[in-house]
Amino acid sequence: MTTRRDGGCLCGAVRFIALGEPMRTLQCHCRFCQRVTGSTSYAESMYPVDAVQFSGEPMARYSHRSESSSRQVHVHFCPQCGTTLTLTFERWPEYRGISRGAFDDPNSVSISSHIWTSSAQTGVVLPAGTDCFQFARADLAGSPQAPARFDTPRMARTGDG
Ligand SMILES: [Zn+2]
Ligand SMILES: [Zn+2]
Repeated sequence: MTTRRDGGCLCGAVRFIALGEPMRTLQCHCRFCQRVTGSTSYAESMYPVDAVQFSGEPMARYSHRSESSSRQVHVHFCPQCGTTLTLTFERWPEYRGISRGAFDDPNSVSISSHIWTSSAQTGVVLPAGTDCFQFARADLAGSPQAPARFDTPRMARTGDG
């Protein structure tokens, strides 16, 4: 049987069903993700773009040019309550990110990597035993970057103690 995860926005006007396991779940500390959430970071589960079915209110979309890749990132959100449900990418049209916090059970997916830790806010702690990337998982040419793994939790910003 195919794994199914349900989710939706704060007000319930937009719902979704995500089928199959996500390819990975990332917690991103870049400035884009800080601003789009108004928080410290954004966690998203990556799925094939067609693996998620949306229902209810059609989502609104805001497109933003990425500072790092200069390609468009599309933020899809509920027009009623503003919850960001999914990101799509000009650079990777075959994938979408689903906001971890929008799943009915966010803990049914676990974070496989922390990315852009170089711009993490003060006070953010990176867990032990998880791949941590200072920037993206791959450079702009697509070459994979080497992650750091810590034996004990560690402050993302050195100097925080
Ligand atoms: Zn809503
Ligand atoms: Zn980000």
